[in-house]
Amino acid sequence: MTSTGALLRAERVTLGYGRRPVVHDVSLDIAEGGVGLIGESGSGKTTLARAFLGLLSPMSGTIRYGDRPLHKADMKAFRRDVQPVFQAEALDPRMRVGRSVAEALPRAARSRVGELLEQVGLDPALADRRPHQLSGGQRQRVVIARALAVGPRLLILDEPTSALDVTVQARILDLLASLETERLLITHNLAVVRRLCRTSHVLFAGRVVESGPTSELLSNPAHPYTRALRDAVPRLGGDPPEPKGATEAVPAATGCAFRLRCPLAAPVCERPPEPRDLAGRRVACHRAEDVLSS
Ligand code: SF4
Repeated sequence: MTSTGALLRAERVTLGYGRRPVVHDVSLDIAEGGVGLIGESGSGKTTLARAFLGLLSPMSGTIRYGDRPLHKADMKAFRRDVQPVFQAEALDPRMRVGRSVAEALPRAARSRVGELLEQVGLDPALADRRPHQLSGGQRQRVVIARALAVGPRLLILDEPTSALDVTVQARILDLLASLETERLLITHNLAVVRRLCRTSHVLFAGRVVESGPTSELLSNPAHPYTRALRDAVPRLGGDPPEPKGATEAVPAATGCAFRLRCPLAAPVCERPPEPRDLAGRRVACHRAEDVLSS
């Protein structure tokens, strides 16, 4: 654990591909109670998740695992503690489900396949099937069973329910909520974080624009972008459309990156807003007080 009790921690992390930074100066803890990273495509949330999985090294700043920088950590212990949950399509189509799960287990524990399938709500008899013989929801449960096989402390889930229909999605969320394993959830669906994450961080254009208790962010957002995301997803269900204008508007190159889309943009927004503490969260917006009171 880090000094703050977090299993994983980003300290002023900038990430990018080649020389191009796409995540800027992000600091956050993956602590107890579930953590959500929220944002639309291109916000940097998946890039940040890759760094937390040790798949991408920071251009600057540090990812900490316990009390050590991740690049100096015992990677065997890390791979046991931190497991990704990929989309169900990542299952090998030629491999029987039982073998897929067994592969993730130590040799001596391979008899636990049935137990793991039961843990995720599947009939152990499905172990003999191939992925195409299962429904989308069943496949996603197999992926979760595989991730649980090594007894991780943290699951990193990237849009774990986005390909599923509403009813199946709700059941998978029930399953994830029932697990004792901690979770970092990457999504653009605020209804999903409401269910699974005590704390959330909203990213826009590679920067955290608002962080705090999920319930506060959703009931009373202080950043116009959080509010736009919340208003785009009024309830749990399906894979909601991304917020209006999400794909056509590029971030502003100077000042506040959100200003070309922001209904409250003012001359002051030509200066980049610094993150500050306000009303129990951290927010980077010059007019956060106006957002809270409107
Ligand atoms: S700083 Fe200005 S442009 Fe940026 S989100 Fe706040 S009000 Fe909108």
